[in-house]
Amino acid sequence: MEKGCPLCNGIIDVCEICPYCGMKMEDGGSIDEYFDPYSPYVELKDEMGNVKKDRCLHLIYCPFCGNDKKVYINKVSLLGY
Ligand SMILES: [Zn+2]
Ligand SMILES: [Zn+2]
Repeated sequence: MEKGCPLCNGIIDVCEICPYCGMKMEDGGSIDEYFDPYSPYVELKDEMGNVKKDRCLHLIYCPFCGNDKKVYINKVSLLGY
């Protein structure tokens, strides 16, 4: 079954509010969590030995004050959309 990130696929929108200025934050795109030094990369493998990536790491930012943070988006089945 095809799974994908709903934010990358435009199914959902960023709904985070900036804690500093209260404005709506925007999606800065997905980033590869392998290169994120703050979250140890954990490889999840299925029974076929394929690496499963069930989350998509996004950088979201506030266009008003420049605050940014990383959020994990759980991938969902894209069937039905
Ligand atoms: Zn994504
Ligand atoms: Zn802000």
